Amino acid sequence: MASANDRPTAVVTGASSGIGASTARALGAAGFHVVLGARRVEKCEEIAKEIDGTAIALDVTDADSVAAFTGAVPEVKLLVNNAGGAKGLAPVAEADEDDWRWMWETNVMGTLRLTKALLPKLDASGDGHIITVTSIAALEPYDNGAGYTGAKHAQAMLHRTLRGELLGRPIRVTEILPGMVETDFSLVRFKGDEERAAKVYQGITPLTPDDVAETIAFAATRPSHVNLDQIVLKPRAQASGSRAHRTN
Ligand code: NAP
Repeated sequence: MASANDRPTAVVTGASSGIGASTARALGAAGFHVVLGARRVEKCEEIAKEIDGTAIALDVTDADSVAAFTGAVPEVKLLVNNAGGAKGLAPVAEADEDDWRWMWETNVMGTLRLTKALLPKLDASGDGHIITVTSIAALEPYDNGAGYTGAKHAQAMLHRTLRGELLGRPIRVTEILPGMVETDFSLVRFKGDEERAAKVYQGITPLTPDDVAETIAFAATRPSHVNLDQIVLKPRAQASGSRAHRTN
């Protein structure tokens, strides 16, 4: 892999777009050697070039891909579990099992696989940090969202459990819980339906991926004894997953 020089290494999953891409750039600017992982590795390569980072193909739902990816990273100080997303917006009565499996595999099992594989290296760094991007969907239910809120709650529980299990180890644990952020998230959720995706952000100023990335970089650059446990950030006009003010 490309030389990390003497920069600490940060792994960012789901770095090909949205919050992950912005986070890779923000961490690069903060002095990290960033290893970017996603299935669309060519998009990661473009960003890696900009920030003198390293792009490696990663499918978090595939154990072999995770093993190849983590095996190619000799040392790591920061893991950002960001890969994830939603599929569909259906009431429980009409739940699509394939959508549920996708959300569970990507958000929950993906976070588990990366975390498990990189824990020994984070520990060995002497100053490790795991930042997981869950969501305000990990705080409460909203109608038609059970597949996503369920997966985000499970991902959050995995992450929050680490806070206790890692006491005494040199690893910090930070959960980032964003509200509405304008990314490809809704396009993925609505399976390429651009009109439906655009409606999600109509009449409201959502967060940008850079807003979230700045927050992640802030948490990552506090002194080692400072653990920011949970950071909830939402647009001013959004109160919860089911309540927002729209101008039209
Ligand atoms: P996005 O633009 O769709 O980005 C999702 C990222 O996840 C992409 O880079 C995608 O890369 C990657 N990904 C998906 N499946 C993957 C897989 N199997 N293996 C590896 N990477 C995979 O959406 P985003 O909003 O930035 O989402 C990032 C995170 O923020 C997600 O965990 C999401 O749940 C969370 N979040 C988003 C919002 C929001 O409103 N946007 C709010 C709260 C939380 P490839 O397709 O190239 O693999």
